[in-house]
Amino acid sequence: QAKLKGRSGSQTYDAAMGEQLRRLHELGQALREALENDALSVVFQPIVPQHASLTSKMEALLRWQHPVRGAVSPREFIAIAEDAGLIGKLGRWVLVRSCYEALSWGNDNVVSVNVSALQVMSGELLDDVIAALRESGLPAERLELELTESVFIHDIDAIARVLDTLREIGVRIAIDDFGTGYSSLSYLNRLPIDTLKIDRSFVLAAEGDGDQMLRAILGMARGFGCKVVAEGVENPAQLAMLRSLSIDYIQGNCISAPLLPDAARVWNDCQASLA
Ligand code: C2E
Ligand code: MG
Ligand code: MG
Ligand code: MG
Repeated sequence: QAKLKGRSGSQTYDAAMGEQLRRLHELGQALREALENDALSVVFQPIVPQHASLTSKMEALLRWQHPVRGAVSPREFIAIAEDAGLIGKLGRWVLVRSCYEALSWGNDNVVSVNVSALQVMSGELLDDVIAALRESGLPAERLELELTESVFIHDIDAIARVLDTLREIGVRIAIDDFGTGYSSLSYLNRLPIDTLKIDRSFVLAAEGDGDQMLRAILGMARGFGCKVVAEGVENPAQLAMLRSLSIDYIQGNCISAPLLPDAARVWNDCQASLA
């Protein structure tokens, strides 16, 4: 399509495409170097329960400070890593880093690590998880993996085998950005899912249009025996609404923004002695 437009005389379009491709290529190269030089980092955002009977979790979120461009959003560079064939290596790095950090906390909180659909499809996820747990010494029960619904458009039997094995060794499975994907919901019945993370957009929508959507998701989660996390909670009104619905966990800036590893350690150490 770019070529067609180019022939029809839109030079600026071609130039913009060229510039975009150069940027992606350059970022791919830079990301490869960052991975080799340990120039990536992970921050941790608290996910706090509304009932004392549940343990807190921390979501591991990747950060990349590009030497010239500054902070690049993980939404952008995860896609770049997938295109550049780097997602396996990147995914292993995050897993190992996150397990080691969790082990340094003075409590038994769970660390929740995002996993891209490509990692699941590659067939390497199970080995990578087992290796990260073994290397770090983190008990499997303290690791949760966050998958998006985009995974479930692929061969569901193959995915079920991987997830069933992960669940058998004690690793928990969460569905991230729940409700935003296009996949059929039948996977809820087939896969060992512990947690549904309700996308921030539903929390925002509930403020204006009412909480029917949240209630429906909550009802479904209860039906399948899943716990529910509300993501991206930012203000007291949202918090009050989610409390009244008995949503199991809250995550968002109203509790805490993502914390640097040292601050995450302080948070967890102090939480341990408050309890
Ligand atoms: P996600 O997994 O849904 O993560 C939640 C995102 O919401 C994070 O953005 C977090 O910083 C942000 N957030 C948290 N609280 C609030 C809030 O109160 N308000 C708003 N507006 N946003 C909030 P972040 O860190 O930029 O990550 C974006 C996405 O990148 C993640 O979405 C996840 O899909 C992906 N990602 C991040 N780290 C990794 C990783 O290690 N591996 C993979 N595969 N994907 C990752
Ligand atoms: Mg996530
Ligand atoms: Mg999410
Ligand atoms: Mg989200």
